[in-house]
Amino acid sequence: MGELFVVGIGPGGPEYMTREAEDALERAEVFFGFGTYLDLLKESFPDKDYRPTGMGMEIDRCREALSFASKEGACAAIISGGDPGIYGMAGPVEELLPQYPRADIRVIAGVSAANCAAAILGAPLMNDFCVISLSDRLTPWELIEKRLKAACQADMVISIYNPMSKHRPDNLKKACDILLDQKKEDTACGWVKNAGRKGMEKKFLSLTELRDEELDMFTVVFVGNSYTEVIEGRLVTKRGYGERLS
Ligand code: SAH
Repeated sequence: MGELFVVGIGPGGPEYMTREAEDALERAEVFFGFGTYLDLLKESFPDKDYRPTGMGMEIDRCREALSFASKEGACAAIISGGDPGIYGMAGPVEELLPQYPRADIRVIAGVSAANCAAAILGAPLMNDFCVISLSDRLTPWELIEKRLKAACQADMVISIYNPMSKHRPDNLKKACDILLDQKKEDTACGWVKNAGRKGMEKKFLSLTELRDEELDMFTVVFVGNSYTEVIEGRLVTKRGYGERLS
């Protein structure tokens, strides 16, 4: 039996990594992961055996890591940005595990992009919220639309992952059109690019302005609910304390 840690390294720099993730990375000898995420670790862990794989190679990456961790005494880590359980490696590793009975796995939580970005903007996720990815690579677009509509109906704050990419240049526009059917044009929104990494950028804007925004896949977007406002230049969803704050 060997061990495989499914590690969430947080959104960027080592200061966003949990102590548990750091300990697991100290112990693992071999690191599997998407090249860009592995590069973030090289400075802190220069002596590890790095096995990078490309974008879209998730299943091969998981199989390689599980095969390696099936060897007696082996200890490996498979890396996800942010949290591995949010559009990360924990899902496919768990699903493949029955095929690798000699590997033992442990999932290690990380700070997700939404947590980090929300803190940068203020407190947009203060009440009930949902996370919706606009990537239709593994989820049909019809289902994404249904979820966007349901989120509006329930007045959830929406945190949007994968807002736009070269392959999906119109998805954010299409999503905003759906949201604008039910939400006010001046709904308070914000986005953060490269949260917790070099080159961080942020912006506060209205839902109509968001519709025409040119973003990329390193950005997380927040669409407020009817209680979200910009207060002193920060994006805040009011929690419901009302009079008690006056
Ligand atoms: N497991 C990751 C999410 C992977 S999906 C997590 O928990 O954060 C990839 C999407 O996450 C990107 O398209 C982007 O929307 C968001 N994302 C990841 N890292 C980010 C960062 N540092 N800044 C802003 N958005 C980020």
